[in-house]
Amino acid sequence: MDLKKFITVVPNYPKEGIQFKDITTLMDNGQAYKYATDQIVEYANKQQIDLVVGPEARGFIIGCPVAYALEVGFAPVRKEGKLPRDVIRVDYGLEYGKDVLTIHKDAIKPGQRVLITDDLLATGGTIEATIKLVESLGGVVAGIAFLIELTYLEGRSKLEGYDVLTLMKY
Ligand code: 5GP
Repeated sequence: MDLKKFITVVPNYPKEGIQFKDITTLMDNGQAYKYATDQIVEYANKQQIDLVVGPEARGFIIGCPVAYALEVGFAPVRKEGKLPRDVIRVDYGLEYGKDVLTIHKDAIKPGQRVLITDDLLATGGTIEATIKLVESLGGVVAGIAFLIELTYLEGRSKLEGYDVLTLMKY
């Protein structure tokens, strides 16, 4: 299936010069959403995953159906102040802005093999921060899966040594 047909490119969102890749038109189509999820599940099966971890909010959209299919848990990575119990935190830089990500301290057991999911790899800042959180808790990043990779932003250079799957490239 040509998944790119289901992505809407929105010019100048959220600011001038950004060509935003809107995945909601893919999610809106049951067959396309299932197909994309199935591709990631197939990959995850090879990586022997114990837990899926994804950053809010689109990392949940990709990761939760994969966790369901694998019959493993899902641990959310969230912006500061959103998780109710003890967290660890990391500062990171975005394609447009700066922020803090957190995860519950007890979300990952040492040695667990983790699949990290998000919708899109841009500069790689979000995923780099998510990797730091997972590894700080003793998790093993066994795979990283995205729907989309913006190759011109070279986010992959931050992910050297990790196993990365992307379903579409721009
Ligand atoms: P990075 O940290 O790799 O620079 O940016 C990736 C993060 O920003 C992802 O969590 C993603 O959801 C969001 N993002 C950046 N650009 C886009 C875009 O064009 N489309 C979508 N859907 N998300 C984007």
